[in-house]
Amino acid sequence: MPKLDDSVMYLKGVGPKRAELFKKLGIETVRDLLYHLPRHYFDFTAPVSIAETLLEEQNVVEAEVIKKERPAMIRRGMTIYRVLVTDGSDDMTVVIFNSQYQFESLEVGGSYIFCGKVTGTLTRREMSSPLIQPAAAERIQPVYPLTAGLTQNILRNCLKNALLAFKPEEVEILPADIIKKTGLLPEAEALRLIHFPNKREDAAPARRRLAFDELLTLRLGMAQMRERNRRSTSYSMKTPDMSGFTGALPFELTGAQKRAIAECAADMEKGSPMNRLILGDVGSGKTAVAAACCYIAAKNGAQSVLMAPTEILAAQHFESLKGFLEPSGVRIGLLVGSMTKKQKEKLVAAASGGELDVIVGTHALFQAGAEYQKLGLVITDEQHRFGVEQRAALAKKGSDPHRLVMSATPIPRTLALMIYGELEISVLDELPAGRKKIETYAVTGKLRSRACAYVRKEIDSGGQAYIVCPAVEEGAADLKNVTDYAKELGRGEFSGYRIGVLHGQLPPAKKEAVMKQFKDGELDILVCTTVVEVGVDVPNASVMMVENADRFGLSQLHQLRGRVGRGERNSCCILITDNVSEESRKRLKILSSTSSGFEISEADLEMRGPGDFFGSAQHGLPPLRIADLAADTEIVALAQTTADSLCDTGRITLPGCAALRGRVEKLFEAASD
Ligand code: ADP
Ligand code: MG
Repeated sequence: MPKLDDSVMYLKGVGPKRAELFKKLGIETVRDLLYHLPRHYFDFTAPVSIAETLLEEQNVVEAEVIKKERPAMIRRGMTIYRVLVTDGSDDMTVVIFNSQYQFESLEVGGSYIFCGKVTGTLTRREMSSPLIQPAAAERIQPVYPLTAGLTQNILRNCLKNALLAFKPEEVEILPADIIKKTGLLPEAEALRLIHFPNKREDAAPARRRLAFDELLTLRLGMAQMRERNRRSTSYSMKTPDMSGFTGALPFELTGAQKRAIAECAADMEKGSPMNRLILGDVGSGKTAVAAACCYIAAKNGAQSVLMAPTEILAAQHFESLKGFLEPSGVRIGLLVGSMTKKQKEKLVAAASGGELDVIVGTHALFQAGAEYQKLGLVITDEQHRFGVEQRAALAKKGSDPHRLVMSATPIPRTLALMIYGELEISVLDELPAGRKKIETYAVTGKLRSRACAYVRKEIDSGGQAYIVCPAVEEGAADLKNVTDYAKELGRGEFSGYRIGVLHGQLPPAKKEAVMKQFKDGELDILVCTTVVEVGVDVPNASVMMVENADRFGLSQLHQLRGRVGRGERNSCCILITDNVSEESRKRLKILSSTSSGFEISEADLEMRGPGDFFGSAQHGLPPLRIADLAADTEIVALAQTTADSLCDTGRITLPGCAALRGRVEKLFEAASD
């Protein structure tokens, strides 16, 4: 019997050949196999009678084979096998394509479970290519992710053997008192039940335990990163008199901004690097907070770098910071990939020579060979595009600079604690005074021409408009795509208006040019994809129309509409969708009823619409295989308090937590692959 960390090759029924196949699934050891979890289960526990089966739906039926018909070859390489079955309520034809093996394994008079889609009519039912199990087999069967050459049966058998390969204490990573206190299953029990639940309800507590492990290790790993960041920095910065900064601003800072700036200033005074997230709603004024930090750094003789995910955003941040900071003598430069070699060289020289205090840019900031001699502050405009590892790598540039992260989307605090676990958090939960509410309407395509009339009226009175579509080139027929749609509008509703097109596949220089035209008022309408989602600022744009609005996540729509309502004009956002399902209506209603991004992300989290980032890889965390940050809120909270108490008491460093520490290391190893 192999041990946990032995190769799966030594498991009964595996061997070197199959071990190669397992490797394709990322399974090398017996332990890996144990954590290869079922994607879902076939549930054969609740068969219905044939008479009760629903047409055009998946049904589970338990029936007896009464007749096997002669195989029919319908063409070369395609044989159809028909089997007549009954359960007393009615009979049904089971159709099997090509699988002679499956056909032959059925015995007349034998009882089987058939699971598949039922078609035909109420009097002549058919089930094609069903899953077939002997009636006596286990009624709940795990279904695993597979690779060619492996079958569900092979995996199930190997797992049965793997579950015999260890003693419970060998897989346990939690101290006994924590298991007791949290009411979680022991690890060994959880593993057994996740693979082979006796009844449907068994899988839930098993999943709960394994999800808890994952979130706990994640949180502990983040805490570890945070601890590592608590080194000393040579950039302990005295907070200067801030009136030079505030006096040059065209507005009064909000209370939340003042609070966030004070928190940053306190961090930067300490002898260890700041690691702070500014978590704020769209339009809450994160840039001004970032500018204040640059001001503090500059007054302490240190350089700051602000990194944005796109050139458009970088250029815009550059403009904003210039406005905020140049009046007080802070020197600013812009460095992006599309600049000429000469321009870059000039900027790099200025940065290296200490002639610039703040350098704004994209990834190019760290590629152009710039040496920032006195790099004291690194700011990233996050947009969920930089992963944990990248964030850590950025922090290694320079000699432990302070770090500030600006969040893209407001998210609930518990979630922020998980996703940005290695950072302290300042929340900007207040919008600048005098912000006008963006009126939001959801309408069907029938009202499109009225919406267009409204948009024309807005433009005629001096405003500008965004028209947002989900796809770029001709995708699914029912989706408006930017290029065609712009042409269509130019010929129809908006003939005579100046229309620009913006999407992610344009070359950067072209994007810049279009954006600049729109900003300078040379375009009336920007037909675009979500490229504009990320913080573009054109105060004169006062109306936005979103096509196929149901294709976007709620948080994404909130981001999008944040592009209007930035200036003096009353603004509105028209969401167009022909999806009138209850679900879709409910989602869009939330947007018209609240303007709080935090509330919207909470709802997004509950409802899980399309494009939501909670379920995807967008949050930049190590891959979560079991836990679901959105659905498992209770486990997330439990894992958080458990992890925090282990850290605060120092217990995590004791021998009793060695297994847990090992798991934490493994999680982050996997993330950096
Ligand atoms: P976000 O938090 O979405 O990045 P920005 O930093 O882009 O928001 O700010 C949005 C707009 O609000 C900008 O035009 C900015 O100049 C303005 N702004 C920021 N702070 C204030 C304030 N305290 N009062 C009025 N306007 C402000
Ligand atoms: Mg912003």
